[in-house]
Formats: sequence, C-alpha cells, structure tokens
Amino acid sequence: MFDKILIANRGEIALRVIRACREMGIASVAVHSTADADAMHVRMADETICIGPASSTDSYLSFPAIISACEVTGAQAIHPGYGFLSENARFVQIVEDHDLTFIGPSAEHIRVMGDKITAKETMKTLGVPCVPGSEGGVTDMDEAKRLSADMGYPVIIKATAGGGGRGMKVAHGEDDLERAFQTARSEAKAAFGNDEVYIEKYLTTPRHIEVQVFGDGKGRAVHLGERDCSLQRRHQKVLEEAPGPSITEEERARIGKICADAVADLGYAGAGTIEFLYEDGEFYFIEMNTRLQVEHPVTEAVYGVDLVREQIRVAAGLPMSFVQEDLKLNGHAIEARINAEKLPTFSPSPGRITQYHAPGGLGVRIDSALYDGYRIPPYYDSLIGKLIVHGRDREEALARMNRALGELIVDGVDTTIPLFRALLQEEAVQRGAYNIHWLEHWLAQSVPDPN
Ligand code: ADP
Repeated sequence: MFDKILIANRGEIALRVIRACREMGIASVAVHSTADADAMHVRMADETICIGPASSTDSYLSFPAIISACEVTGAQAIHPGYGFLSENARFVQIVEDHDLTFIGPSAEHIRVMGDKITAKETMKTLGVPCVPGSEGGVTDMDEAKRLSADMGYPVIIKATAGGGGRGMKVAHGEDDLERAFQTARSEAKAAFGNDEVYIEKYLTTPRHIEVQVFGDGKGRAVHLGERDCSLQRRHQKVLEEAPGPSITEEERARIGKICADAVADLGYAGAGTIEFLYEDGEFYFIEMNTRLQVEHPVTEAVYGVDLVREQIRVAAGLPMSFVQEDLKLNGHAIEARINAEKLPTFSPSPGRITQYHAPGGLGVRIDSALYDGYRIPPYYDSLIGKLIVHGRDREEALARMNRALGELIVDGVDTTIPLFRALLQEEAVQRGAYNIHWLEHWLAQSVPDPN
C-alpha cells in the first residue's frame, strides 16, 4: 500500500480523497494555487504545496508542477479527483514514466473512451447497446444530410472529443442541419482543438441513466447499479438519484451485467461510469467516463461501499474488496449539487461566506469545502457542496432532502439552494416522472425565487 498520496485537485473532491486516505492510514498531500492558499483541502491535508498561480492552466493542470510536487513530497501516487487531469491520457503516461502511480485506469483506456467515436465502436463490439448514429466521424454536409434523412430527424451533432455538454447541436430538419453541423464543429474546435463530429439520432424523451462499474484491471469487474441523472440544465447534471425511479430489478441486473462484462473484457482498472439514454425500456450507450463522478456518493449510500478507498486499493495492486454477490442495493439516495450561482441566470456568485451551517442527522451527508469566512475564488467551478441523503425508500429520501435543505445555511453568496427547495415541491420530481428535458422546460416557466 502507498504511504503517501498526492491529490491533484481542489474543493470538495480533494477533501473526499483526503478523508479516504486518512481512514486508510495514508498520508495526503494537497496541492494548491495561490488563490487557494486558504482553502479547506489545504487545511485538512497532512502536507501542502503551492503549485502555481490562480489560473488552473498554470497550477491544477500543469504536468511539471504536479510531477515535481510528488518528487518534493515523496508521494508515490496521484489521485486526480474529477475534472482537471482525471481523463488526460498524456498525463497518465507521464505519471507512469516517472515511476508514480495514477489512481485510475490506464492511459490506453482513457484514450479509447475519451474519443467518443472509438468509445462507441468499442462498446458496440463488447455487446453494449448504442444510440443509432453515424459509423465514425462525419466531415461533409452531403454525408450529414444523407445519414440524417436515413435516421430520421431530429438528430444531434456531437463532438468526438466532447465533454461538459459542449460541442453538441440538435437539428430538427434539413433546414437547420447545416447550421447545427457548422456550429458544433466550430464549438468543438474552440473547446477541444478537434473539430471531428458524429451524428446520432436525437432521442426526444429519454432519461439519463448511468451504470457505476468497477474493475480490478485483471479481468474481474462488478457493477454497482445505476444512477438517474435526468435533471439537467444545459446538459449538466443538477440532481441525481440511485436507484433510478424507472428502472426495474430485472433491467438493473441485465444492463449491469452487460456493463460489468464489458469492463471485465477490457481489463479496465478502477471506477468508471457507463452512460446511457433510456427510452421506452431500451438503453442506448452515449459515453463512458473513466473516473470518479461528482455524483458517486449516491451509489456509495445505497451499496454501502467507499469507492475512493476501493480506487486506492486497486491502484496499489490489491484485489477488490467485494464481488458482485456482496453488492446489495439498500434504500434510496439523492444528491443535490449546490453551486454558488445567482438565480435565475445561474451566473457565478463568488465571494465571502459570512455564515455556513451544515445539516446533519440520520442519512445526511454533506461533501463541501466551505467554512465560515471562506472566500470562494472566481477562477474555478461553481460547485461548492453536495448534499446527499439516504432513506429506506424514495419517499423517505425526499422528505430527508427537504428537511436537510431547511437546515443548510450558506450566507454571503447566492446559491442554488432555493432551486432545490422549489424542485422538491414539484409533483413530477416527487413522482420521479421526469426526462432529460423536464428541468429546462420547468425553468423556462417557473423561475425559483432566490429569497
Ligand atoms: P458530455 O460528454 O458533453 O457530457 P454526453 O454524450 O454525455 O456529453 O451527453 C450529455 C447529455 O446530452 C446527455 O445526458 C443528454 O442530456 C444529451 N444527449 C446526448 N446525446 C443525446 C441524444 N442522442 N439524444 C438526446 N439527448 C442527448
């Protein structure tokens, strides 16, 4: 086992990893930019090291800064969290070249899944059902027209290097295909430096269902059920739950096995998420994330496992501490992503926290790097905390979320807390009857009152 792990991240996810390290008796190293000198992850780690200025390009994304931080502190392994370098195959290669361990899958698996066209082809070969679409990239308009007409409109143009909901455009008919195609390409070029796009059938009322998988890198893998992340704004998840309210036990077992078998065949190591759109009882693969997800705590709650501990164990060459039969679904969990954003525009709201009070009690977990007097810097993601509740069933989880939101106080900046309070009053949310478009429609009509 490692003696010391460096966490190449910040915020709540850095704390999450520090906590796992501490419980495992492993020393933790926090890296930070100059803007994060007072951050909670810096206060909580065993050792800290400043790796650069506020701009993440020169700090949290800097290969040389992070590799030399390992050398200076003697850390043997790097946990990347999510975002930043977590899905950067080149970084993983460099980490390995320096005889350090990357806590995550191999560079090769990251590369394959990072290119969405290759990912889809690979998954198809492994027997995973995919969204109907183009075979590979589409470069000219005539081909785009022909494929779209064959598939039937609406279609969605997606960047093969895509992520974070960028480089995606829907076309409802041939009239807007050209504009969608060109916009998706230029957005993709600007965001990822790669303008390759592909076309998929646009599903009109799907749910976003993702399966948590875990592999030991030696051909053994399990699944930990699914999460429903259909409540999205601009293709970004807002609220997540496990299990999916629309998924039956048989469906879970079936799609779970397909995913676990695929991951086992790949020889994949560590945590991964296979994302699907789900419509009329069918699953359609859209992408695989080769890292820990923001929403992993809902899975931890219902399966009673520590996914970060497991990631560290597997990276150290130890076997997984469970087999499929050990994993029993228990109750229901919901996560609300609390962002420092001003409603109704969702514009970032950095600034000083004048008062912070975290909720508690049975079945309540808060993963947050906030504290009284903390100043949220304007340079990074606006996620400031995740409120996760676990109940015996969905009804209890909803009541608990309502109760916990009532206890949560974050003063000094605007937050999305009022959004969740309003959402929980909605019948569709109470019944779990929503698809990926529901939240956008609802937001267009009912702007939550920030007060
Ligand atoms: P990203 O990597 O940018 O997050 P994804 O491929 O995971 O992109 O898609 C993000 C979201 O975009 C999905 O959860 C869904 O809401 C929407 N989406 C993607 N593909 C389709 C599709 N074929 N039909 C309908 N919606 C889609």
